[in-house]
Amino acid sequence: MGHSNISVFVPHIGCPHMCAFCNQRTITGTEKIPHADDVKRICTQAMNEVKDVSQTEIAFFGGSFTAVPREYMLELLGAAQEFIGNDKFKGIRISTRPDYISTEILDILRDNHVTAIELGAQSMSDVVLKANERGHTVQDVENAAKLIKSYGCFDLGLQMMIGLYKSNRETELETWSKIAALSPKTVRIYPVVILNGTRLGELYKSGEYKPMDFDEVVKICSYFLTEADKLGIDVIKLGLHASEVVEEQMLGGFYHPAFRELCEGRNYRRLIAEELGKHGNISDIASVVISVPKRQISKAIGQKKANIEYFKDLGVNIKIVGHEGSDKIKINEIIMRGGEK
Ligand code: SF4
Repeated sequence: MGHSNISVFVPHIGCPHMCAFCNQRTITGTEKIPHADDVKRICTQAMNEVKDVSQTEIAFFGGSFTAVPREYMLELLGAAQEFIGNDKFKGIRISTRPDYISTEILDILRDNHVTAIELGAQSMSDVVLKANERGHTVQDVENAAKLIKSYGCFDLGLQMMIGLYKSNRETELETWSKIAALSPKTVRIYPVVILNGTRLGELYKSGEYKPMDFDEVVKICSYFLTEADKLGIDVIKLGLHASEVVEEQMLGGFYHPAFRELCEGRNYRRLIAEELGKHGNISDIASVVISVPKRQISKAIGQKKANIEYFKDLGVNIKIVGHEGSDKIKINEIIMRGGEK
């Protein structure tokens, strides 16, 4: 049984910052501030609905959990306690800013059964952090991540945003390598969505912020997926949740309701190209039948048959079939130009 979260959205309350990309109310889709009775109601309901409570965390998401007024943070944590333990939920998961992590805060979190802390790193370039008015530095992320790990009782998660103002391919690759060096258990990757009512929105409208090419961001994120897989880092989110609120408020950026599938398809395209490359020049291949594990057929074909079309444009007719087991791509049949097999 996989991991799941019971999400309690804690909106912008108490966050003294105004990051250039943030319109927290738009993202959470709610302005209501949850209190102890809301936490209890949500948890009671979830206890009856969740299949495997032992693999489920109560997740306080949406804002910067450790930056809210202390009394309020303790109220929410306190309300969750009776739902954690044997035959109950596994623990609590929170998201917060790296500059609101200290031993004092971590002691409170540990004593209140917090099991996972996700830090909004967003970028590991100080230029990008500053340009997007994040209010913390790369050093803050590194210090907070190391302090969290030193406790030995928290899973570390890091969140990053791709395509922020003043970012480019180099800053994104730098961000990835610094994130990976901190060995998080999980990462969330959010390609930027430019929302109305944000500073980023103004910069975008004025023409000052020119986002990267959509395809470039897909390529970068596909690379991160591959690297994370190699390092055993779990990419628990890639792309914002498909939501009507976001779709209504969006001015631009890198939103796609199935962004992860786009990236997985892109990775498959690369794998297929590598496999075909073993047979010489791709342009010398007329047609090929490729077999992939059955459950990966749709990724191999790509969104709206993007991979089939891509190779067609290169003059190669590809048919994808499925096989059981094995993670390997196999070439079942290949016809070179001139009829050679
Ligand atoms: S710290 Fe988080 S909640 Fe506060 S403005 Fe920035 S993104 Fe929004």
